[in-house]
Amino acid sequence: MKTLEQVAASLQGYDPQALRADKAVQFLQTLVTPVAQTELVALMSALGRVLAADVISPIDVPAHDNSAMDGFALRGALLQPGQPLKLQIAGTALAGKAWTGELTAHQCLKIMTGAVMPAGLDTVVPQELVQVDGDHITIPANALQPGDNRRFKGEDLCKGKPALLAGSTIGPAALGLLASLGLPTVEVRRKLRVAFFSTGDEVLSLGDVPRAGAVYDSNRYTLFGLLTRMGVEVLDMGVVRDDPAALEAAFAQAAAQADAIITSGGVSVGEADHTKAVMRKMAGGEGGVAFWKIAMRPGRPMAVGRIGPAILFGLPGNPVAVMVTFLAFVRPALLQMMGAQVEAPLPLKARSAEAIRKKPGRTEYQRAIVQTAPDGSLQVKTTGQQGSGVLSSMVVANGLLVLHHDQGNVAVGEEVDVLMFDGLI
Ligand code: AMP
Ligand code: MG
Repeated sequence: MKTLEQVAASLQGYDPQALRADKAVQFLQTLVTPVAQTELVALMSALGRVLAADVISPIDVPAHDNSAMDGFALRGALLQPGQPLKLQIAGTALAGKAWTGELTAHQCLKIMTGAVMPAGLDTVVPQELVQVDGDHITIPANALQPGDNRRFKGEDLCKGKPALLAGSTIGPAALGLLASLGLPTVEVRRKLRVAFFSTGDEVLSLGDVPRAGAVYDSNRYTLFGLLTRMGVEVLDMGVVRDDPAALEAAFAQAAAQADAIITSGGVSVGEADHTKAVMRKMAGGEGGVAFWKIAMRPGRPMAVGRIGPAILFGLPGNPVAVMVTFLAFVRPALLQMMGAQVEAPLPLKARSAEAIRKKPGRTEYQRAIVQTAPDGSLQVKTTGQQGSGVLSSMVVANGLLVLHHDQGNVAVGEEVDVLMFDGLI
């Protein structure tokens, strides 16, 4: 495991006081390591889990050449360009019941989709293309090519070859694929355990009586949702008072139980509260935690470190900043800890419906609504007010308009990158 200092030393241009967003991602990528333990789970418990090892196909799928259509199986070599073909029906090959008889030269077999191709036959004519006359069929001229409508043994998955790769997250298609291999269980990484709590004396728990200057804790709920969608085990530790003993106890408990700790609040510059001091102490001093000022909006301050074996993500307090820093930094780092292949989310290109003022030198994530314009192209407009406390804008938005570090003002109609919320928020 690398120390924070080692990671910092390996990164060109690392400046915790003015950190580029992409550098912060890189820093975390270097800092975290995947959980080592794996477990064997039944398929229906494997949805959303991360494959611990390549799955090597134990069989060919399909196991035999078979028919892709309901129709008649024949020898493709009999088909002559420009000539109709008349054949005698010798019997029927059903799916799940192979036909084992012998055929003479001008015989064919009625065959059902999925039925094993009888030896010597390589082509299937769909039943709707032929004319049936008693026990004979006539295939019109040029209706098909030799080899048509036959599925090959192993064309889906080949015995001995990797069917799924380590690090893939098991989705519905992969579940079906594992089942098609006859595998009842699959080896996955153990679930990541993530503890989270909110800090700040102005933060009320649900059920508390409202008072002037206080806000209800929303961060724990957005974090709960974001984490649950990632398929991690969540450990909700509530709101922790701005008191060194309470904070120490919370960090100690979280570090003892979780792989990662996420807090919100108390990491801004000039904070009067104890959060930063306790983080520093619990991380074993300056070397264990870094307090970043990230060149981004929203979400400038963030703490990153290690408390015991657990990785600490100290997020800002503002509700939108929590969500954006989670998506930009925490999510990719957690995916890596889960053992998942981390691919940067594919940005969509959309035309900006408005002019946007933007200073080069920071990354901006604007809450945005992407729509199809009348001409069919994608258009994006911001949700207006971009204050980092305006959580309603995250509800209204269906994505984030990303203005990159070096990007300047955006003109009406200019193409910009958008990160869609699908499946994330
Ligand atoms: P801080 O980063 O602690 O300075 O907090 C910045 C702002 O976020 C303050 O206005 C807080 O009231 C607000 N805030 C902090 N924690 C929470 C929370 N858990 N839920 C909602 N708002 C919060
Ligand atoms: Mg605070």
